[in-house]
Amino acid sequence: MKCSGGTQIVAIFGCPITHSLSPVMHNAGFSELGLDLAFVPFEVRPADLKDAVNGLRAMNFKGANITVPHKEEVIELLDEISEDAFLIGAVNTIENRAGRLLGTNTDCMGFIRALKDAGADDLKKSKVVILGAGGAAKAACVGLLREKVKELVIVNRTQRKAELLQENLKGTFKKNKISVMPLDFEALKGEFSDCDILVNTTSVGMKGDSIKLPLESLKAGALVYDMVYNPPKTKLLKQAEKLGHKTENGLNMLLYQGVIGFETWTKKEAPISVMKQALFDAAYK
Ligand code: NAP
Repeated sequence: MKCSGGTQIVAIFGCPITHSLSPVMHNAGFSELGLDLAFVPFEVRPADLKDAVNGLRAMNFKGANITVPHKEEVIELLDEISEDAFLIGAVNTIENRAGRLLGTNTDCMGFIRALKDAGADDLKKSKVVILGAGGAAKAACVGLLREKVKELVIVNRTQRKAELLQENLKGTFKKNKISVMPLDFEALKGEFSDCDILVNTTSVGMKGDSIKLPLESLKAGALVYDMVYNPPKTKLLKQAEKLGHKTENGLNMLLYQGVIGFETWTKKEAPISVMKQALFDAAYK
């Protein structure tokens, strides 16, 4: 990463932040296009978030990514947020337009782009079962509903959280079929039998763990998408693969949410293959 007198900064704020793969991905992209930009991680404690966000204006940063635990709290510190960010209740990308900070959520369409890459080409005809009801699930649901998915079923360990998400989504997506199911092995058999896409948005799988699911009941040819990307093949993906299902992990979602951010900050087409290789190397080599 070269710095000149004219280098502009894109930041990422999180706490902790050292694990983030975004700096490697974005700096590879900036360098490929010969842009005088640098992507720099900052560990920002929750109590310092307001000062850090004001710093984006004060130091004329080009923009920022926002990660855990600041995605919700940052909203009230911005000048404007996109409709997706409002619906999801979280911002992960900020653009600094001459001191006005605009917040968006690129997880949502990053997820959809990754899902389509994995073979989900006809969402309007697809029934999707979502495991989880946290921030990642919200982004996935909004993306799927925007794409007019045929049916959406939300399954969460804490069922009340899934019901709240369902109520919230129904306020905007009035015509879509959205239901909630308990995380119950027997009850899920019926749901799985005509499910086209199963998406894990929970953190389960990161530690080699798995949720007990009736995968044998899953419709033949169903796609199983796991937002977890480390390990590259979770137990869920291994089991699904054994049963003959198409599978995909969450690395491309991370890539595409970054691609949308990159294009927002630079107004240039992102060098996707370079960014993808950098991300892959940083994650797995
Ligand atoms: P979150 O808001 O904390 O939500 C966590 C979800 O996981 C909740 O629905 C929670 O259920 C569920 N859960 C946790 N432990 C569980 C268990 N033992 N059994 C069943 N359910 C369990 O987190 P998040 O922000 O949504 O992130 C979730 C995962 O998505 C993380 O692994 C994150 O790294 C990943 N992610 C990936 C990308 C990507 O680009 N690939 C982007 C965003 C997030 P309860 O409500 O019952 O607690």
